[in-house]
Amino acid sequence: MKKKLIQNTSEHFEKSFQNKPEHIFLSPGRINIIGEHVDYNDGFVLPAAINKYVCIAISPNKNSKCKIVAKDLNEVFEFDLKDTLVPNQTMWINYILGVLQQLKEQKQFDNGFNAVFSSSVPIGSGLSSSAAVECGFAYAFNKIFALGLTKEEIALIGQKSEHTFVGVNCGIMDQFASVFGKKDKVIKLDCNTLAYEYHKADFKKYSLLLLDSNVKHTHLTSGYNDRRNEVEQGLAIIKSHFPEVKTFRNCTEEMVNALKNELGEIVYKRCHFVVKEIQRVQDAVDALENSDFNRLGNLMTKTHRGLSKEYEVSCDELDFLVDAVANETSVLGARMMGGGFGGCSINLVEKGSEKELIEKISAQYRSKFGIDLKSYKVKISKGTSEYKN
Ligand code: ADP
Ligand code: MG
Repeated sequence: MKKKLIQNTSEHFEKSFQNKPEHIFLSPGRINIIGEHVDYNDGFVLPAAINKYVCIAISPNKNSKCKIVAKDLNEVFEFDLKDTLVPNQTMWINYILGVLQQLKEQKQFDNGFNAVFSSSVPIGSGLSSSAAVECGFAYAFNKIFALGLTKEEIALIGQKSEHTFVGVNCGIMDQFASVFGKKDKVIKLDCNTLAYEYHKADFKKYSLLLLDSNVKHTHLTSGYNDRRNEVEQGLAIIKSHFPEVKTFRNCTEEMVNALKNELGEIVYKRCHFVVKEIQRVQDAVDALENSDFNRLGNLMTKTHRGLSKEYEVSCDELDFLVDAVANETSVLGARMMGGGFGGCSINLVEKGSEKELIEKISAQYRSKFGIDLKSYKVKISKGTSEYKN
């Protein structure tokens, strides 16, 4: 599938520009094994790059003119780097223009290029096709024009592009995972300091299966803002009783439980989830290191229950997908992945059982919600890189 993507992108470049591309880059989408809604609560996340990629075929120009073909959308966008770059109503180009604006500011960048890109990362399913696009281009410019950027700088440029040209106030996890991914490794990342460690993620006789609910409810932004306020309120109360607590990272379950009345039902539930989820990420790393997949699966399912019942960011469709696999012996654990209110569930399943499972759950899902389920079997792969024949 990767070969085919590269071949198709490359051929499309030749058709568009009457020349072979001088460079090919691959930039992956990502999953997050565990650690949800803790990035803004001083916890860790545990993402990994996957074997679904944005492929970029690109050649430098001798001037400042740029032409980019979005093959999957059958759209072309042309501009000159000498002109002022501003966000455009053609949405996809903003991810790239935002990157170029950063490079203009930081490196006086004015190197034109021709590019074609195409992707196997599903768009808008929570696998971060957007980070794959922006980091893929930033990585490619850095390599071709020898800009001397570090991987961390590339990830930050991708993030800032979304903030400034797309208008999405995203965290750093997606870009970081896409750029720093390594085959069969998860990244334990502190989203505040960008401190990170790689940990073994060899799933042996298990595999990761994503079930795409195909829904996206609109409370994502409002839900997110409410949660941020609630946990901030909770942390202030906890700190007033336990001065040794600086962040949720050094807050214990006992402390939260001791303050249950004062926190009130809602804020208590939110804080309890955060404290437990921070612990679960650590436990998941231990489980992975020890190849204890039953334990890992249990942790994932506990995370889902917490996100659904305590943090309240799930939805009927995601709850259904997690509940539907709860009694399947081939499934060790499942949870919603991402910010919530839609997107995919991530499942730890026995290798070989996927097809039967997908058929069974798809039929149930269709009869309950009238929606077709999509599914993706993913492997943990390396981060953004240049592809050499
Ligand atoms: P995701 O969860 O996949 O990151 P986003 O809404 O953040 O969802 O980003 C999706 C957007 O990124 C698309 O609407 C499009 O503008 C851009 N994009 C992603 N992949 C492609 C592609 N293959 N071709 C063109 N644009 C793409
Ligand atoms: Mg995105």
